[in-house]
Amino acid sequence: MRAKFGTAGNPENFALEGFKKSKDMPLWLMGKGLEAYEYQCGKGVNVGEATAREIGRQAALAGITLSLHAPYFVNPANPDPDSQEKTAGYVLAACQVARWMGAGRVVIHTGALQKRTREAALTTAKESFRMLRRRCDDAGYGDILLCPETMGKINQLGDLEEVLALSNVCEGLLPCVDFGHLYARSLGLLEGQEETARMLDRMEEVLGLDRARVFHSHFSMIEFTPKGGESRHLTFDQTDFGPDYRPLCRELARRGWGPTIICESAGTQDVDALVMKEEYLSHCQDSAGN
Ligand SMILES: [Zn+2]
Repeated sequence: MRAKFGTAGNPENFALEGFKKSKDMPLWLMGKGLEAYEYQCGKGVNVGEATAREIGRQAALAGITLSLHAPYFVNPANPDPDSQEKTAGYVLAACQVARWMGAGRVVIHTGALQKRTREAALTTAKESFRMLRRRCDDAGYGDILLCPETMGKINQLGDLEEVLALSNVCEGLLPCVDFGHLYARSLGLLEGQEETARMLDRMEEVLGLDRARVFHSHFSMIEFTPKGGESRHLTFDQTDFGPDYRPLCRELARRGWGPTIICESAGTQDVDALVMKEEYLSHCQDSAGN
């Protein structure tokens, strides 16, 4: 089992090399030696069926695994019925596009606390993810995994424990573990060999090995502030903040896990994803294996 590495959206190099259209991304990524692409619908689901299908066709040709980021406007932790309905609408629209593209995973933010306790917010979000799963199943998207994401700001729901709990409320959910976010919200605590191993152990404990080893992931170095947590995404060249990618790559290789790692560096997603892939492969026992 091998990890897949890829980009969140289209990196700067893509444009610098004269490309504009996302349908050209899969072959471009293949040319760079990457194998995953997360299509961004964070600012809304604004892609038509023809374009989505063409991206899917190109991805199949290039052997690129697709996932899709649902709009940032969702808030599964908000109990207000109108808000819940809006969240469902965004997630269903994201699944429709994922279906057209052939994307198997839709990443969903877990929501803001809005002055409620973490416990109350988590209880609401659990119900919400159960509802989202059922609505997506009913709409024919039963095979698309919904992925609650760990969040980078302290006043958001979505530390590792919360996301693991959300991922276990029913079948058809898989965590999107954003290690940059966990680093930022823990004010730099969650990084390094020991902490990384502990997080992966905990994932295995809660999810079981079969699900843990294929988890979805985002990775970037992230600047944080002591009060709020995440403030901005960095590149691997900006080393004032972490987390260091190497312990994660080493641990994944050592365990023989095959997650999908989407690099969310600020503009250098392609370059930094490759750096991670090389580090990961350098620790794999049998570099010709599968
Ligand atoms: Zn996200």
